[in-house]
Amino acid sequence: MTIRLQLLTEDPTEIELIQRYWAMDESGQFLEKVSALSEVLQLPQGVTLAAFIRQRCTAFDEKQICPQCEEQVEIRNRSQAWRSALRSTSLCTLCQQERAALAREAEKKKAAELEAVLAEYRHNQVCRVVDYSAVADAHVLLLLALDKAVMPRLTDAWFTLADCRGLAPRYFDNFVETLKSAGLLLQDPSKAKPGTYYWNGDDVWQISAQVAYLFMPGCAGVDANEVIRSLSARVYTDREGVFNLWLDYAVADVMCYLGDQCKWYGHELGEQEWDEIKSTLRAALHTYSVSQLWFVAWKVVKDAASLASHQYYNRVKAAATIPGKIRRYLERVKRESIELRSWSRPEQQPGGTLGMLFDEVFGIDEDTSGVAATLRIARVTGQESADGVDTELCAPIRELMVDALAQDAGASVMLRFAELIRAGYDVGCAVEEIGVSLQREHVDDHSLQSPNAGQQS
Ligand SMILES: [Zn+2]
Repeated sequence: MTIRLQLLTEDPTEIELIQRYWAMDESGQFLEKVSALSEVLQLPQGVTLAAFIRQRCTAFDEKQICPQCEEQVEIRNRSQAWRSALRSTSLCTLCQQERAALAREAEKKKAAELEAVLAEYRHNQVCRVVDYSAVADAHVLLLLALDKAVMPRLTDAWFTLADCRGLAPRYFDNFVETLKSAGLLLQDPSKAKPGTYYWNGDDVWQISAQVAYLFMPGCAGVDANEVIRSLSARVYTDREGVFNLWLDYAVADVMCYLGDQCKWYGHELGEQEWDEIKSTLRAALHTYSVSQLWFVAWKVVKDAASLASHQYYNRVKAAATIPGKIRRYLERVKRESIELRSWSRPEQQPGGTLGMLFDEVFGIDEDTSGVAATLRIARVTGQESADGVDTELCAPIRELMVDALAQDAGASVMLRFAELIRAGYDVGCAVEEIGVSLQREHVDDHSLQSPNAGQQS
């Protein structure tokens, strides 16, 4: 007998059945079939023989020894019995229970530690207050846009990253991150879904999409709605900060369209290529409008798509040309003073609350050239002539006018000036460009014409 039985019944018929169920020969074969034994006793409805026997007897396999306590391992039915003796890999019931209890205990301890860490994390944030009158202009704009995007939760309750989607066409998470880094948003673990924060080794990790954010409280218990009201009345003065935020936003607006176009044509770009494009666009946005760069994006992506069908090219190689194509095309536009066309806003790409705010406060939108955006932001921030741009321009403009009149080229100079401004030149560059060609020789109408006048590509 290699199965040790611990009987829990005194009924002789049941005992006999149990013994016949577990009886085996020397080779480990069971002597009787389960189907034959099932007829010995009338079993209750829905109860299997194995279950009936398990209720009346605990069986231990003498061939299976628990690796921990060296006791025999309990088995529940015939299929768990072993033919030959081997060291068991499974623990006996007692050891299993013990191990599970230890694991539960450790888990509980870790959970308590996590609670403590999170409580401290929350406390450290809550005990700070923000002096909103000292917050940078760009952050004020972001907060106001966020308030519109998550209304009314910014001031009333908490919100998650997904709630901020309406902020901008793309990279809304970067904008939220900016506010978080500036200490203007608070992460409240007590509001987040269970499981949002968890241990990874000795570090606490988080599921970013589930993090609950709150508006940082203002000084002296001022109500959050009151804070937003006072921020709405902000008089903006930080020209550079606001313009940089405009660039961040405008890049997002162009990239959203470019990303959609690439998806449409099946171009897959790596992270480095996206970054390269972002830098190029950011530089171009100093001159051009978002809607002009939508046109550039459309043109370049379409060109790459036709390249992909070329026999010496493939999709990956063609996609890789996109960053370079954008750069070269913009260089050509500048060199040849090509007037860029504009695309209107794609229907499925709303400008977001940040875009609305730029329009409201500064009067700039996707059709505003970078040059005009700079000027309008300068006007609103009261920095229009503080940097001496106007005074710097006085001398070259006077010189240009004198030369133009002396050569009787007033009309063509003005037409050329208008053309260059439309092509995205700023005033200084346009004046310089015309001045150079005026001085080159005596000027006639022809030399002032753009080589591409009337052409568009
Ligand atoms: Zn054991």
